[in-house]
Amino acid sequence: MMYMDAKDIDYYSLGFEYIETKTMFVSDYNDGKWDEGKLVPFGKFEISPAACVLNYGQGIFEGMKALRTKNGEKVLFRPKENAKRFNESASRMLMPNYDVSKFVDAVKDVVRANEEYIPPYDSAGALYLRPLMIGNGPIVGVKPAKSYKFIIFAIPVGPYFPEGFRGIDLEITKKYTRAAPGGTGATKTCCNYAGSMLAGKEAKEKGFAQVIFLDAVHMEFIEEVGAANFFAVINGTLATPKTTGTILPGITRKSILELASKKMGIKIEERDISYKELFENSCSEAFCAGTAAVITPIKSIVLEDKKRIFSEGEPGEITRKIYELLVGIQRLDIDDEFGWVVKI
Ligand SMILES: *Cc1c(COP(=O)(O)O)cnc(C)c1O
Repeated sequence: MMYMDAKDIDYYSLGFEYIETKTMFVSDYNDGKWDEGKLVPFGKFEISPAACVLNYGQGIFEGMKALRTKNGEKVLFRPKENAKRFNESASRMLMPNYDVSKFVDAVKDVVRANEEYIPPYDSAGALYLRPLMIGNGPIVGVKPAKSYKFIIFAIPVGPYFPEGFRGIDLEITKKYTRAAPGGTGATKTCCNYAGSMLAGKEAKEKGFAQVIFLDAVHMEFIEEVGAANFFAVINGTLATPKTTGTILPGITRKSILELASKKMGIKIEERDISYKELFENSCSEAFCAGTAAVITPIKSIVLEDKKRIFSEGEPGEITRKIYELLVGIQRLDIDDEFGWVVKI
């Protein structure tokens, strides 16, 4: 067995690297139906070289976190939303849906089975959960597989960006795009990520934490930051790109919009945001958001020879307030009045 003993992990210095845990969930789909699914030791499995996922990329995933609260409880954040989005992704990729409550139950089972890998409350860590579905049936022509595998595995993680809440420097790319209208940008399919890696790599080589993608039609409107959604405070309003099919509809994004408008009295706007607006004084703060990135402030943005500095280490006021509220609710330090947190 290759997994790391939970006792040997330093939860206080974890980043976002791969550490094996003990147990995963597997369910197989054959002849038009899913089997019961079961917990099995984390490990490898065989796959046909002709599997649809290997040849044509028929694969989807989700990303979720289990956290430890101050009282030692184990909690998930809006897991049903992930289950629903998983099915939306599945439908777009001609893959079978998976029952929403069974999905949530299976996620809970995986958390319970790997309980000792949930980082402690006072670390910045979480048990990251990765539900995954692949078309594993063999296929030669371009058409959907006949059999599928649904897996959920878990990894203890720390902050996604080592810079954490100090903020990150980003570069806007005019060389690469991530998604085009009518494509799969709103789908959490593995196909979207391989194509974005070169853009991320080139930005990192220049010292940036990630790349900001623009819309593929006009090369003007902000889409996403790598694998996180983008927010900016413009004239005191919290603005974020609208979900028209080319950006991933983040659950963190949706939660932030609700918190800002319902709890903080901040005006929100889902609209096209031109990159030009980020270089004007009316734009005072920017951050990116997602399960992995949580809320990561953006320190500066560069496009070609233009640079906009938002903060020198201290994130903006609105960014900080939203962060404290969101994370406070997620860890049950703040009353969860929306009923978003699910105890395991
Ligand atoms: C998963 C993901 C996000 C964030 O979604 P959350 O539900 O908030 O985790 C944003 N953009 C991309 C491309 C993603 O894959």
